[in-house]
Amino acid sequence: MIYQRSSALFREAQTYIPGGVNSPVRAFKAVGGTPIFVKEAKGAYLYDEDGNQLVDYIASWGPMILGHAFEPVIEAITDRARKGTSFGMPTEIETTLAKLAVEMVPNIDKIRFVNSGTEACMSAVRLARGYSGKEKIIKFAGCYHGHADAFLIQAGSGAVTFGSPSSPGVTQGTAKDTLLARYNDLENVEALVKANAEEIAAVIIEPVAGNMGCIPPSPDFIKGLRELCTQQNILLIFDEVMTGFRLAPGGAQEYLGINADILCFGKVIGGGLPVGAFAAREEIMKFLAPEGPVYQAGTLSGNPLAMSAGLAMLSTLNEKGEIFGSLEKKTTYLHEGIAGVLESHGIIHQINREGSMISVHFTEDPVVDFDSAKAGDNETFKRYFHGMLKQGIYLPPSAYESYFLNDALSYDDLDATIKALERVAPDLK
Ligand code: PMP
Repeated sequence: MIYQRSSALFREAQTYIPGGVNSPVRAFKAVGGTPIFVKEAKGAYLYDEDGNQLVDYIASWGPMILGHAFEPVIEAITDRARKGTSFGMPTEIETTLAKLAVEMVPNIDKIRFVNSGTEACMSAVRLARGYSGKEKIIKFAGCYHGHADAFLIQAGSGAVTFGSPSSPGVTQGTAKDTLLARYNDLENVEALVKANAEEIAAVIIEPVAGNMGCIPPSPDFIKGLRELCTQQNILLIFDEVMTGFRLAPGGAQEYLGINADILCFGKVIGGGLPVGAFAAREEIMKFLAPEGPVYQAGTLSGNPLAMSAGLAMLSTLNEKGEIFGSLEKKTTYLHEGIAGVLESHGIIHQINREGSMISVHFTEDPVVDFDSAKAGDNETFKRYFHGMLKQGIYLPPSAYESYFLNDALSYDDLDATIKALERVAPDLK
């Protein structure tokens, strides 16, 4: 494959944009080489600036669950754009989308829209603090909740790729209120709770982690965490930015059968436009301004274009509930295909999967937390990533990211991916 134009565009971008990108993981730092500049995308395929066609396994990091340029979403956006793109005043479509989200997601009465997953998580924690009158939070090493200061403590995703899971610029004052626990280790959380009795406002977690690769929670862990939070009067926040409207119509709460107290959304809920949201039962949401004292706002929050994209997306997912099962089946098929090839070539690996999230780790031991994820062999991962890219398969350019399957992927695409791996595997030894 030729990447001449992508290389030239990247060089020019670096002149004007730090690192040439507006979000670090796009720069290919973890895998080396030149980032691919996208020209357009349709369905399961990306078309880059050099004219290459790639099978897309990142789906814009989750949002494009129905494939790129999904017709109902595009129609909704274009139709809406002609009527004006922002008013800073209420519009009916905000309520329409809120109502649909409240119907689809268990255990919430109200939802507030923001512009990103970061904002959703940041606001959820402020709400938890305001509601509980307590200040500390517990987060899990390797989980990523956006780039607000309180979360850049042992964060996953791009933060770990760039060697700064705990970023400079976060004050010690902020850091001291964020306590760190090990994913899938309930005893560790219990010990933290005990040592900080009555001080913990909330535990925030990715109910299925996707930012240290995909790591499912063990059933005992997630159930125990819910019970612990209830007993200790701690709010449980599910960061469903990845899992929301992906694992099931009602997200991880429905998929795992565990309810949280506050939910954060992003990605799918915006249909590919910048939307985040947080939601809870009425008794918690009424603490939010203008009803209550916890302040939160946004010039472009509830933006009509973004709402129309989100509405077209969620309406489709709500009407065609079979999509979730069919995505899971495709992901299982891919899982089995990848495992078969890697095993037949004797390549040490682990595959983690939950619903339509999946990741391959080149390590001997099960990947259940940040430390076991970090044990993966990054040199093998680089060869895997670039080998697959040369075969026209676009995987996440970091071992600390999950793949997101989309409904437009056909079984032929999956077979082509598995065949591509057959060609790449001899190089992974
Ligand atoms: N939470 C999770 C679980 C995420 O995966 C992400 C982004 N990948 C965020 C929050 C932050 O979302 P955004 O990038 O939209 O700010």
